[in-house]
Amino acid sequence: MYAGIEAGGTKFNCIIAEDPQNILVETRIPTTTPHETLTRVVNFFLEESLSRKITLKSLGIGSFGPLDLNKRSTHYGCITSTPKTAWQNVNIVKELEDRLHLPIDLDTDVNAAALGELYWGAGQGLQNILYLTIGTGIGGGAIIARKPYHGLLHPEMGHIFLAQPFSEDDFKGVCPYHSHCFEGLASGPALKARWGRDAALLEPHHPAWDQETFYIAQALSTYINVLSPEIIILGGGVMQQTHLFPLIRIKVIELLNGYLQIPAILENIDQYIVPPGLGTRSGVLGAIALARSLVD
Ligand code: ADP
Ligand code: ZN
Repeated sequence: MYAGIEAGGTKFNCIIAEDPQNILVETRIPTTTPHETLTRVVNFFLEESLSRKITLKSLGIGSFGPLDLNKRSTHYGCITSTPKTAWQNVNIVKELEDRLHLPIDLDTDVNAAALGELYWGAGQGLQNILYLTIGTGIGGGAIIARKPYHGLLHPEMGHIFLAQPFSEDDFKGVCPYHSHCFEGLASGPALKARWGRDAALLEPHHPAWDQETFYIAQALSTYINVLSPEIIILGGGVMQQTHLFPLIRIKVIELLNGYLQIPAILENIDQYIVPPGLGTRSGVLGAIALARSLVD
């Protein structure tokens, strides 16, 4: 059995499992102070493995960030410049290693979700995939040649700049760092700030969705040109608006404008831009995939 954590700004989802068919136990622990949350996480894994008489082989963590993922850095394992100030510079790997004595692999929440989708979801059998979440924040995880891609730090796909499609709209977005970045314009909180209502309450024909489609399609066109993924998986709360999928697909084809003569896009886009195969569980199962890729 393997341990997994999907560490988010509001909750830590913890799981003991082998794969989606073999889940032993799961729990949700609210994100409060690092000490309180991590103590509850440690106790969960220790108590469950003791009472069920199982040995955990390793722990995978998919976390909010930004994170220091450079294994040669002295700050490896740290959550760095998060707006959740109590969590700034918390070394989540060290804290958990010292108390659980397990091999640990840490990655971004979206890289973990992407790996989960590669193992057991919509990306099965592929080599290069992109997972994007559009929720409280926007982030993307890329798997390149079946490995989560990191680079210098890790991609921050939510902070690319987008064109404002409607010239009369002076909304610059809600990102404290940038105006007109993808997350600032198109996340759940951005929709709420722009339209004065929770995104979940905007009716399907609301003009918000036309604009949202344009933002998402612009970003996807950029990722397609930069990364050339074999599939794009769109998760997160905002993508519960499933009517956006066909609109986004049409708009992506329109924006690429015939430049990429690829049947996967031109003929089979319904299988190219898709919801997660693991539903809302890509992240937590992705943490199990991370744990497995560390020791198997
Ligand atoms: P998080 O990003 O915090 O992990 P979610 O992916 O669930 O969590 O994203 C939460 C955001 O998604 C909120 O801003 C919320 O308004 C928005 N959201 C949740 N459900 C829906 C929905 N059905 N339609 C549109 N937006 C939604
Ligand atoms: Zn930004």
